[in-house]
Amino acid sequence: MRKTIQAIRGMHDALPDQTPRWQFVENKVRSLAQSYGYAEIRMPIVEPTELFTRSIGEVTDIVEKEMYTFQDRNGDSLTLRPEGTASCLRAALQHGMLHNQTQRLWYQGPMFRHERPQKGRYRQFHQIGVEAYGIPGPDIDIELIMLSARLWRELGIDGLELQLNSLGSAAERSAYRTALVNYFSDHPDQLDEESQRRLRTNPLRILDSKNPEMASLIANAPVLTDYLQTESQTHLATLCETLDKAGIAYTLNPRLVRGLDYYCRTVFEWVTDLLGAQGTVCAGGRYDGLVSQIGGRDTPGIGFAMGIERLLEVLDAKQQNITPPTVHAYLILPGERTVAAGLTFAEKLRDALPGLALQAHCGGGGLKSQFKKADRSGAHLALILGEDELAENSISIKNLREEIDQTTLKLDALPAYLADTFNLEQA
Ligand code: ATP
Ligand code: MG
Repeated sequence: MRKTIQAIRGMHDALPDQTPRWQFVENKVRSLAQSYGYAEIRMPIVEPTELFTRSIGEVTDIVEKEMYTFQDRNGDSLTLRPEGTASCLRAALQHGMLHNQTQRLWYQGPMFRHERPQKGRYRQFHQIGVEAYGIPGPDIDIELIMLSARLWRELGIDGLELQLNSLGSAAERSAYRTALVNYFSDHPDQLDEESQRRLRTNPLRILDSKNPEMASLIANAPVLTDYLQTESQTHLATLCETLDKAGIAYTLNPRLVRGLDYYCRTVFEWVTDLLGAQGTVCAGGRYDGLVSQIGGRDTPGIGFAMGIERLLEVLDAKQQNITPPTVHAYLILPGERTVAAGLTFAEKLRDALPGLALQAHCGGGGLKSQFKKADRSGAHLALILGEDELAENSISIKNLREEIDQTTLKLDALPAYLADTFNLEQA
């Protein structure tokens, strides 16, 4: 026998017993986004590599070592998207959606990063992202944070901590960068190899180091907040005041730098202590310089993305019960002659009761084995359309979950019976 083929390491199937949890999250996001006036956008999964090198930054973990990059048959360099912000902006620019207008958009889908697979960290993972374009002030920053806070409430997730920082403008960050390079250069022996390299390429990223041996060095480093000028200070202060008024708790974390180069001013993360090292379930920030970086006219932007797998892991840790969708009735069709009539009748029932979840038996077999399948489907009722019933224009009904005697009804009485039993509207 040939070896069976397995999924790629770090890429997972969501099996039928898992998908109700995915749908639960997706449905909540869909209706919430709509209620705030955000429209869904869907982008391709593959983009020109240049889109990511230009936006995320050449000297970031993602671009340096995590992207799935390959040549297509024309020799063009393509990349499986590692995140959605750049693609979303590319699409908005390409379709002239940023021309003298603001946009509020959201998307969802798979992202790809060649990371070391572990709990909360996969090579194909899924994000839901929300982005707003053309709005420079802190009002939209606040709206996005409020939207995410409401989402946690609706999902039944409490205990997430909101961490907040300002990365300032490009000029402020550049002044800070000089101070940081001076500071770390004074302690070269305390820098690990990675950080020594970062010192030359992208010193802010040293602050994001997860190496515990560097923790105290990092803790004593200069903080960016001290380098903010009036405009950035006011932006952050307004954000904080409004969050205070709205009763949304946050922690100012001056070390929060984020792993992508395009951020400026507001950055934030929602963090849990339930998932160990992979504690960030949602992260985002402002990226006012990004549009010009990928070739458009300067347009402010802000967004965030949440990792669906990590959100689901939080729901699991909280033992949040998500009920799978139920099958109302299973149609048993014993005897070959009942199949065609049965399937046709099932269609009529579905027309009559749009909310009905009806599974019709396919694949033949005797009454006993069909009953077994009916039971396994989770259906509440078995509807039996045998040859006797068919001859009399009737149907037998057996409750699979309660001790109730089997009954027989006329076929045309069934829609009303099911509507009554399951509280369904008749068409
Ligand atoms: P981390 O610091 O955990 O690597 P990141 O800064 O790389 O995260 P972002 O690029 O900001 O993450 O992505 C936003 C969110 O997407 C993260 O907060 C997380 O929930 C999720 N995410 C990122 N990478 C992965 C991954 N490899 N597997 C699962 N989820 C991920
Ligand atoms: Mg990462």
